[in-house]
Amino acid sequence: MAERLQKLIAKAGLASRRQAEKWIEEGRVSVNGHPAKLGDRADLSHDQVQVDGKDLAKAEAKLTILLNKPRGYVSTLKDPEGRRLVTDLLTDVPTRLFPVGRLDYNTEGLLLLTNDGDLAYRISHPSHNVDKTYLVKVRGLLSAKMVQRLEQGIHLDEGVTAPAKVDNIRSVGSGCWFELTIHEGRNRQVRRMCEVLGLTVVRLKRIRLDSLDLVGVSTGRYRVLSADEVRKLE
Ligand code: URA
Repeated sequence: MAERLQKLIAKAGLASRRQAEKWIEEGRVSVNGHPAKLGDRADLSHDQVQVDGKDLAKAEAKLTILLNKPRGYVSTLKDPEGRRLVTDLLTDVPTRLFPVGRLDYNTEGLLLLTNDGDLAYRISHPSHNVDKTYLVKVRGLLSAKMVQRLEQGIHLDEGVTAPAKVDNIRSVGSGCWFELTIHEGRNRQVRRMCEVLGLTVVRLKRIRLDSLDLVGVSTGRYRVLSADEVRKLE
């Protein structure tokens, strides 16, 4: 079946769809020897698609891994401040992977990395309402009123957050742990939701993403997702 070129390029794990569109506009993509234009489609079973003169059909295999990110790492591919990158932890991965979404420098936990641009696009898209559960430690206590506000929606600058779920509240010393499940992926969302309530987050760890969790993956380590696990995310 013929598909849009940017989708084929993203599926092959070479770039995100958006990046692939740029490549097409820049004239780096050809179909059967002719320069491609945005909107063109191809079928890899009989069309020869090339990027920078290289056959797309021979592109590298797709790989998606689940990393248990430690605190003190940035989840971008470069950092102007020279801080450690999550990709520094991928010692024996044969291909270049990019993070799916972000975790803050001091947030720990479940982070997916992939070379499958199409998967990354779909999971990060706002319409893809995947559940994300965070283990949160705050200073002070979480009152019943605060739980209600978290669950009903918090007013952030760009609008009210979608309903969330609070579970497993435990008081420890002068602080409190709880689990917060959200579906959106706004920038620093959990920290900002807590800030509005006057709560300071002292630990933040993503412990679940959809049906995936951190079982068997210790901090700083990763495992490769199976084809079934990837399919379930779609
Ligand atoms: N919410 C945050 O505040 N930070 C993260 O890293 C993830 C979710």
